[in-house]
Amino acid sequence: ILQGAKKTYEKPVDFTQIEITRLPTVIILGRPNVGKSALFNRLIRRREALVYNTPHDHVTRDIREGIAKLGDLRFRVLDSAGLEAEATSGSILHRTASMTAHVLAASHFALFLTDARAGLHPLDLEVGKWLRKHAPQIKPIVVLNKSESLFDASGSLESAANEMCRLGFGDPIPVSAETGLGMHDLYLSLRPVLEDYMLHVLNDEVAQDNSYSEDSGSPEVDDSKLPLQLAIVGRPNVGKSTLLNSLLQEERVLVGPEAGLTRDSIRTQFEFQGRTIYLVDTAGWLQRTKQEKGAASLSVMQSRKSLLRAHIIALVLDAEEIVNARRSMKHAEVVIARRAVEEGRGLVVIVNKMDLLRGKRKSLSYEQVMEIVPQEIQTVIPQITGIPVVFTSALEGRGRTTVLHQVVDTYEKWCTRLSTARLNRWLKKVMSRHSWKDQAAQPKIKYFTQVKARPPTFVAFVSGKTRLSDTDIRFLTKSLKEDFDLGGIPIRIMQRSIT
Ligand code: GDP
Ligand code: GDP
Repeated sequence: ILQGAKKTYEKPVDFTQIEITRLPTVIILGRPNVGKSALFNRLIRRREALVYNTPHDHVTRDIREGIAKLGDLRFRVLDSAGLEAEATSGSILHRTASMTAHVLAASHFALFLTDARAGLHPLDLEVGKWLRKHAPQIKPIVVLNKSESLFDASGSLESAANEMCRLGFGDPIPVSAETGLGMHDLYLSLRPVLEDYMLHVLNDEVAQDNSYSEDSGSPEVDDSKLPLQLAIVGRPNVGKSTLLNSLLQEERVLVGPEAGLTRDSIRTQFEFQGRTIYLVDTAGWLQRTKQEKGAASLSVMQSRKSLLRAHIIALVLDAEEIVNARRSMKHAEVVIARRAVEEGRGLVVIVNKMDLLRGKRKSLSYEQVMEIVPQEIQTVIPQITGIPVVFTSALEGRGRTTVLHQVVDTYEKWCTRLSTARLNRWLKKVMSRHSWKDQAAQPKIKYFTQVKARPPTFVAFVSGKTRLSDTDIRFLTKSLKEDFDLGGIPIRIMQRSIT
């Protein structure tokens, strides 16, 4: 059914056509004051920024993320905070430094920024050492910033460049972030490496697509070994960042009283029971309810894309708000949940801040909340029974393992593949159970097959002019879910006529 010519991508890559979330990530590194932010701003051209408030400009900044445009190149760019040598433990400096190390792991390439006028600084060497230690896989491109005045001063650019070669990362590219000089050279050195990266990614995806179509109807294949992409979404302040931290079990995403720190959308990956889980978009869908304007609306767009990119959506709700409002989900949350399911994603609902219901006398008890939430979700999304709901206290670190188990479990169901032989044996049995409305006009399913996983999608081949009614489709869906343990995830059944 799905046989098609095998596709492979060949050069050149059109970066403008690639979904933001698949673009390579380039981190800008360097000691303080070399012009990292200036270069970042030039690359993202401000109006394109997906940058969130970082009002704490004392000492250091947060990590910012944006989509860089450099000629026809597009990439995700991270502006790292300075790698302050004098970091003291517990302070924001220290936390930022450890976060940088983590963000490094999520980066594919690095621009190592230096200052042409200041020359090689001892801290540059330290950054280099640090980079070799923490991200040996990244071969940085050394950038010689603030070069504008050296371009015409004979010899001084060469000597500055020669000096930077001592960093051991090859010839530096002279630029001026402030004036834009040298950006074309930067483009020329980035283009081949980013293109190679993109070709790998695209060809991997093509390989996956091809494998889907090839084995339709053949024995079960374990797609669940492919990395899981998880998006944690929810309104501001429900505890997404806190939860994320408790999932990661170490401080990889900053949470704390400093305003703006939890707003960053940074890709993170971690391991759970030998499985790689990617976190796509941690900014949440509903930032627009916050005051930030330009950045906010873009982050909503970006999040929407991430939502589609994600396999499993974890929707976080706030238990205290549920008690106060006496209902589980506000309109926006209902919209997200429905959208996730309509788009065929796996949904896991997390009710956070359960600790706030303990002990106190509230209009709804702990137990009542545990009872009504699943009921209300069922009402809102009637087409799926048994959407998993997990009750957590991110603050106390309670429920984190359950969350991860549910996420993995949902993902595995979502990846299920059933062989055609098995499905047709099942079909025979199940059709004898079905009570047809009109025996005479009863449609005959000749053949039933799974054409796709993620989510499981089936085609019923119906003979002649008859068609399966909605009731028939619902019956088949329900039976599939019961007999193959596919509850809680969206599944799709299509029909085709054959003569
Ligand atoms: P960061 O700490 O590495 O992020 O550095 P900033 O981007 O904050 O820049 C530090 C200082 O260098 C600021 O005063 C900038 O205006 C200045 N600066 C940045 N890029 C250039 C450049 O290309 N030429 C010159 N002359 N100054 C620059
Ligand atoms: P986000 O905007 O969804 O990322 O929310 P945050 O993670 O920044 O949390 C918002 C506030 O709720 C912070 O003050 C957290 O300390 C608090 N919070 C998060 N999770 C819990 C929880 O499980 N219980 C309680 N009592 N407070 C929580």
